[in-house]
Order: sequence, then C-alpha cells, then structure tokens
Amino acid sequence: MYAAAGDCYDRPSALLLHPPGRGYEKFLAEVTYFRVLELPGLHEGKTVPFLPFYISGHKRLKIIIAGGGYAGVAALVTLLRHMPEASVTIVDPAIHHIKITHLHETFRYPLEDFLVPFSTLENRFGCRHVGAELRIEEGLLQQWHDDGFMTVDDEILEFDYLLIASGAPIEQMVKSPNVLDLKDFFSTPGSGLLESRLDAVDAKDRIISVVGGGATGIQFLFELAHFLQRRQAGYKLRLIHGEDRVLNHFPAGFSTYTQARMGHLDIDFYASTRFRGQEADEIMLENRDTGKRFSLPSAISLLFLGKTLPTALSANVFGQVVIQQQPLQNIFTAGDCSIYHSFGSNSMTAQSAVRKGMLAARNILRHSGTFKLLEPYFHRDLGYVVSLGPADAVGWLALEGNVVNGIPAMMIKEIVEAQYDLLLTGIDTYVL
Ligand SMILES: Cc1cc2nc3c(=O)[nH]c(=O)nc-3n(C[C@H](O)[C@H](O)[C@H](O)COP(=O)(O)OP(=O)(O)OC[C@H]3O[C@@H](n4cnc5c(N)ncnc54)[C@H](O)[C@@H]3O)c2cc1C
Repeated sequence: MYAAAGDCYDRPSALLLHPPGRGYEKFLAEVTYFRVLELPGLHEGKTVPFLPFYISGHKRLKIIIAGGGYAGVAALVTLLRHMPEASVTIVDPAIHHIKITHLHETFRYPLEDFLVPFSTLENRFGCRHVGAELRIEEGLLQQWHDDGFMTVDDEILEFDYLLIASGAPIEQMVKSPNVLDLKDFFSTPGSGLLESRLDAVDAKDRIISVVGGGATGIQFLFELAHFLQRRQAGYKLRLIHGEDRVLNHFPAGFSTYTQARMGHLDIDFYASTRFRGQEADEIMLENRDTGKRFSLPSAISLLFLGKTLPTALSANVFGQVVIQQQPLQNIFTAGDCSIYHSFGSNSMTAQSAVRKGMLAARNILRHSGTFKLLEPYFHRDLGYVVSLGPADAVGWLALEGNVVNGIPAMMIKEIVEAQYDLLLTGIDTYVL
C-alpha cells in the first residue's frame, strides 16, 4: 500500500504503512496526521497516561528546552504525553534534530535519512523552535531562574521551567583541508566528503588515516573500509589510537573481536600513538610511551578525538541544576552536558541521555503539581553496541562481561534504534 503526500493518518495507521526505520521520517514528513489522535489531552476531555505522584496544578506550563538532541526530544515527548497543553519551546542553533548515532552510516545512506527538521517536530508536537545558541553559564542560569525569563535575539521568552540539554562539544583542532572531523559529517554525508577528497588528492601514497579507536572512530573506520572496497579506490587504511587496544573503555572481548576484523580488512593499527598534526601529505605522530615523534604518509586523515566537557552541569539526584551547592528548583539538565549526583549512569550515551531527558520531564511535571514528590535517577545502561560496517557489530547486553557480536549484536542495535524512532513519532516504548 502506498501513501500519497498530504494524506492524513492516525499514528497506528502510519506505523502499519511504514514501520519505523530508514525512510520513516521522510514518510511521516510527506503525510499529515493529527496531534489530537496521538496525544489526547485533558483539555479534549480525554485521559492522559498516568504519571505516579503527579496531580496537575491545572496551570498551562511554559517550558524551555535548550538543546533538541536525544535528551531534549525525549523530554519534549514525555512532557506532552502527560501535559499535552504545555507550551514547549526548543532553543537550538541547528535547523535539524540529528540522529547522531547513525552518522557513520552516511557512507551508505543519504544524510537526510538521519535529520529531522525542527519544523517537522513543531508540526508533529505543536511545540516551537527558536534558532539560537544559548550561553550556558552559572551566573546566567541563576539570573534566568530568578527572573523567570530569558532574552533571545531581543525576544523575551518566559518560562516556568527550563531544561538544559545542550550535549557536549566535540573536540576540535585547527586542521588543513585534507583533515576531516566529526563536525564535517553534520552537513555532508561521508560518501560525498570522501568522494570529493579522493578526486582532489594527488598523493603518491594512497593511504587514509583514522585517528581515534573509541566507539565513534571505530564505527567510521569500518564504514569507510567498506566504502573504499565498494568504490575500488585502491586506498589503504590505518588506525591511530592513543591506547594499547581499540575500544579500551569496553571489555577486552570488544577489542579482540574488533582488532581481528581489522586484520581481515587489512587495516594497519598503530597502538599507543598520539596524533600531533598533519602537514601536506604527512601525518605527524608521537609514541605515547617513548615520546618519540615520527611521520607517515597520509593523503587524508579523519579525526575522532572524542568530546570535551568543560561546562558539565552538576545536578542533584532529581536532575535539578546545582549551583554553589543549592539546587535551582525550576532549572533541570539532562544528557551529555549533565552530571547527576546519583547512582544512575552518567555515561555519554544516547541511552542515558534519553533516560535523563524523560526523568527530568517527569520531575518538572511533578514539581509543578500538588505533591512535589520527585523521582531519583537510577538508570543503568542495559547494553552498548558498536557497529563494524554494514553487516557486523560487537556489544554487551545486560552485563558488561556479556559480549555479543555478529548478527545478534546488530539486531540489538536495530531494536534500540527503532525504539528511538518510535519515540520521535510520539510513541514511548521505554519500560526500563
Ligand atoms: C558518531 C556517533 C555515534 C554514536 N553512537 C552511539 C550509539 O550507538 N549508542 C549510544 O548510546 N550513543 C551513541 N553516541 C553518543 C550519543 O550520540 C550521545 O550520547 C547523545 O547524542 C547525547 O545526547 P544529548 O541530547 O545530550 O546531546 P546531543 O544529541 O549532542 O544534542 C545536543 C543538542 O543541543 C544543541 N546545542 C548545543 N549547544 C547549544 C546551546 N548552547 N544552546 C542551545 N542548544 C545547543 C545542539 O545543536 C544539539 O541539537 C554516538 C555519538 C556519535 C558522535
């Protein structure tokens, strides 16, 4: 069955016509459907899903979410599930919500598959998007909290609650044109970026270096290896990593499996080696243990150096921002930019970001209600999967020592991604 642009569906029908996954966002953008069918509210005389310890104060809350990434979107959906009449404004300098966990797949799929325009979220959820980058500093947070408003581009935005979910900045260095980093993939797909560089390169040594053997670097490395194979480009790949094994933040089984796969793809591995720069067609390196510096030919280098967190916000066990040991009652934080002082996971993963975003949203509602009884954050990640190209992956499930690989690992990743795609359409299937 085919859907025509402009057709109207309720959510279950839309799901039957096109299950979540690649292309689902495009499908939803082309058809129209009604928010009232998705998010029935008290104002329509219908019930909303039950939220323990929450009795609405019957005030139409004004909420600002700074940052429309995983945490911000999870909070948006949760807020509107339980209070459909809330007025939610997302402040984010980007024009799209980016499904970053898929970015390495842009060697195979169009970048648009992983972008959800904020205008689409506005139509879908009835929220508002303001394109601006907030300066997030303790002094300003305190001022916004005391004033109950902020000024953005000469407009006064009032709020009852503010959620800071601005993620963590990506580590960047001054770089030459034949050096790429994660930011470059935000606006151009991997295939396009590489095609243009491969055509322009005139180096005698056809070698590409990937720097960083963490989860992001490894996912890009394997996609790139398969892309070069498909293109029959005749390039050789090398991985530079500062530690003695790849994926060193994960159990040893991850490294053993991944390094064996790198061997099959004939990828050279420089362990315990630090990146010091790129000059023309040479990559400058340093041995971590001896301090010895050396250079190697490298026509193109891709840097995946991780994230910096100079501005992590401290939060109490309920997600309220803490400044000088005092919680700001009406300002919450979630996602990579936050450190909760609780037993829950502060890992910089989409899973933790979604759970923190949902918890912060529930606590905002409870705080606005009659009881003001808030829920503490105890979420532990249930697993983590690193993809190794189009047909392979390695990960852990339930317990960190429980390493899975191949098809089972890929299936776990697909399920997790599908669950998030459902959330983006307003359907919350997260039980833990
Ligand atoms: C390539 C890659 C693959 C990954 N794969 C996985 C995976 O498989 N599984 C997993 O669990 N995790 C994965 N991660 C990690 C995961 O993507 C992050 O943990 C997650 O995106 C964090 O969500 P967040 O909402 O905190 O921040 P983000 O998703 O980074 O969103 C932050 C948002 O805030 C906006 N913003 C930034 N600064 C400001 C400001 N000053 N004012 C207003 N808005 C601002 C940004 O534009 C952005 O929209 C991956 C990361 C990368 C880079």
